[in-house]
Amino acid sequence: MAAGAKGVLVVTGGSRGIGAATSLLAAERGHAVVVNYAGNVEAAERVAAQIHAQGGVAVAVRGDVSLEEDVAHIFAAADRLGTLAGLVNNAGVIDVAARVDEMSVERLTRMFSINITGSFLCAKAAIKRMSTRHGGVGGAIVNLSSAAAKLGSPGYYVDYAAAKGAIDTFTVGLALEVAGEGIRVNAVRPGIIETDIHASGGDPERAARMAPSLPIPRAGTAKEVARAILWLLSDEASYTTGTTIAVSGGRAIVP
Ligand code: NAP
Repeated sequence: MAAGAKGVLVVTGGSRGIGAATSLLAAERGHAVVVNYAGNVEAAERVAAQIHAQGGVAVAVRGDVSLEEDVAHIFAAADRLGTLAGLVNNAGVIDVAARVDEMSVERLTRMFSINITGSFLCAKAAIKRMSTRHGGVGGAIVNLSSAAAKLGSPGYYVDYAAAKGAIDTFTVGLALEVAGEGIRVNAVRPGIIETDIHASGGDPERAARMAPSLPIPRAGTAKEVARAILWLLSDEASYTTGTTIAVSGGRAIVP
């Protein structure tokens, strides 16, 4: 298949972890990829270079998903690559372990702005391009939820868990809103996945420490999550919308 023949995919936070694995797999499957990142330009350029080395099409684009002017910049880069086919709302942050009665308003604002508002703003930009209501040809959106949405994460990050709960509701509502406009909207719910996110929450050993207690007794890999994301984006999932796939080795599958 010609590079980029499957259309353009925006992967927010596409530079590291699950986003990087998704960007690489999407390029392999024929997408031109906008590899969005917030600050770590080296990581983003590495992913884009790897895609180029494999004959794919990619561009690394800086932008904070919680800022609408940055989102406009990210999607302008997508427009320069071709027709938008999909969005992976992957950019997400946690914070250090804290109880709710210790959380500052600054922490809460960052948590909800990036994890919730960012997903809304990117979906808005994607729908304006993909919806048949706006003259588009359709497409697919995949949101990143978390097992935390089901578990609540007491004593760690109830704010993050609540943000991902909002993503679950967003997935259902948006799926129904645009189902008649050629756009499918689904989510993936990772469990404990081996990425840098745990270190960013001050607990780099979290995945290794939790691994033995998980139903499948190991942490998942970013690529295992990416495969579910790519399936949901693909025509293989053409009648699937408004649903969530848990990629959690059995963690938090019972509500
Ligand atoms: P990660 O390794 O920490 O990578 C986060 C990515 O998001 C980086 O590319 C980062 O860019 C980008 N990012 C952060 N803030 C951003 C912003 N404001 N605007 C744009 N990009 C931003 O994370 P991950 O573990 O791959 O997680 C990816 C998604 O899966 C998140 O939504 C997370 O909540 C969810 N998830 C992860 C796990 C897990 O165990 N890993 C479990 C459940 C759900 P820079 O490199 O420039 O900072």
